[in-house]
Amino acid sequence: MPEAAGIVTGEAVGVNRYFGSLLKVDKMHDPRSHFEDAIADPAVFLDTPEELSRYGRDWTGRFQGETPLVLRPNSTEQVQALLAVCHRKGIAVVPQGGNTGLVGGSVPRNGEVVLSLSRLNAIEGFDEPSASVTVQAGTVLETLQEFLAGKGQMFPVDLGARGSCQIGGMIATNAGGIKVLRYGHMREQVLGLEVVLADGTVLSNLNRLRKNNTGLDLKQLFIGSEGILGVITRAVLRCQPAPAQRQTALLGLERVDMLPAVLMRLRAALAELSSLEFFLKGALELVCARFDDARDPFAQPHAAYVLVECESGEPASVRFHEVLAEALEDGAAADAVVAQSGAQAEALWFLREGITEAISKTGLTHKFDVTVPPGALPLFMEGIRDLAARFEGVRPVFYGHLGDGNLHLNMVQGASLADAAFRALEEEITEPVYALVVDFEGSISAEHGIGVLKRKYLGYSRTPDEIATMRAIKALLDPRGILNPGAVLEP
Ligand SMILES: Cc1cc2nc3c(=O)[nH]c(=O)nc-3n(C[C@H](O)[C@H](O)[C@H](O)COP(=O)(O)OP(=O)(O)OC[C@H]3O[C@@H](n4cnc5c(N)ncnc54)[C@H](O)[C@@H]3O)c2cc1C
Repeated sequence: MPEAAGIVTGEAVGVNRYFGSLLKVDKMHDPRSHFEDAIADPAVFLDTPEELSRYGRDWTGRFQGETPLVLRPNSTEQVQALLAVCHRKGIAVVPQGGNTGLVGGSVPRNGEVVLSLSRLNAIEGFDEPSASVTVQAGTVLETLQEFLAGKGQMFPVDLGARGSCQIGGMIATNAGGIKVLRYGHMREQVLGLEVVLADGTVLSNLNRLRKNNTGLDLKQLFIGSEGILGVITRAVLRCQPAPAQRQTALLGLERVDMLPAVLMRLRAALAELSSLEFFLKGALELVCARFDDARDPFAQPHAAYVLVECESGEPASVRFHEVLAEALEDGAAADAVVAQSGAQAEALWFLREGITEAISKTGLTHKFDVTVPPGALPLFMEGIRDLAARFEGVRPVFYGHLGDGNLHLNMVQGASLADAAFRALEEEITEPVYALVVDFEGSISAEHGIGVLKRKYLGYSRTPDEIATMRAIKALLDPRGILNPGAVLEP
């Protein structure tokens, strides 16, 4: 099981304020009976202990709780009927997609019913002239990628959890990933959206148009709303032509403070730059130590590494090699390797994408997903090193998306620190990290969202007036507070 910095159960999170008025579904008293008048299809309900257990634990293993019932609708009408019952009876619901979220928002914490979108998973149609695809929320990202590859197209948001994460979950978290630099987040890909509100009202706007300024763009409210405002059921997404080829290289840098210059240089010189990822020496060492088939491609270690990828419609571009050669000549980079085949490109990508798992094989970790302006990244990481040095037995590991200033900082448990002692440091480490983020005018959540993990720190990135406005919108769309209670906003 991947990293876990203390299991958080419903009790630790605290009973949310809505429970006074919400109906606690009792697993001893046939929980499905609440819904059977609305839906006869038995495939919609799961309630045996074996079936329920996997819906109660998140990917990190850190957040877990019990649910009396999992609802698995396979149409918008079923979602509508189920939510209408929940609203009427006051039954709390946690929407769940692929359950790969990293902030604890996708699992029940206080005995809520889980609404899984996994069976609502059809790809409804591809429209070539508008370069758009209509999908149901439970479609797994990799399935969509494979479908579009068969049409000579691609979906431009890509991330390590591609085999499990679902389009609905990705929209609900406004997922980013490894190509934001060129194509943007989920928000930039969503043309149309269908959402079922807490009371069963369906807001359906499966728009395929690029231009459609007709009043408030309501879909934007739900993108990144982490299941607290409505359940996403269908979406229309933009596609891109599949690239004819990819060119991939890894650069080794002498010093960490050279990262911003490399970013500016490559962004200016390579119009087809699609990914610019970075990791520091400690992260590469960890991947090579934890995976037998991972290999440092350089003869000498470097302070920092940059993975560069261009996706282009043309066959092999000479420009890619020229730009890298110039960077080496000027000393902007100390060394470079260029992948000569798809397999070599994959091996280079593994050095970056294997870091999360290598960390989880190493020990417990306090995880951070923050952004600072990209030019400030080296100074920020220096500040973090100074901070980490105050905690004996805690090792910072740095990697992330250079083009977006997005740092996945992991404070990893060293061998000298017992589990309980490491877990007890959570607040002591988190508060100064977020204070430093604020000093650097950054954000405490770059792409993973707030969920449960970060809700008490939301005030580091949002003003009290903004948070009060979020609460007012929540109260308007979900007056009984049945949707994902306790996620994003503190009870
Ligand atoms: C190995 C790994 C790599 C990752 N890399 C990245 C990365 O590069 N970039 C990135 O942004 N994230 C990354 N993530 C995090 C995660 O994959 C994303 O947050 C993803 O978008 C979650 O999708 P999901 O379907 O698993 O959602 P879940 O985890 O099931 O749910 C996430 C949140 O969305 C809500 N939700 C889910 N479905 C719906 C719906 N249909 N309607 C309303 N609300 C819903 C849930 O209630 C929950 O609050 C990574 C995770 C892992 C494990």
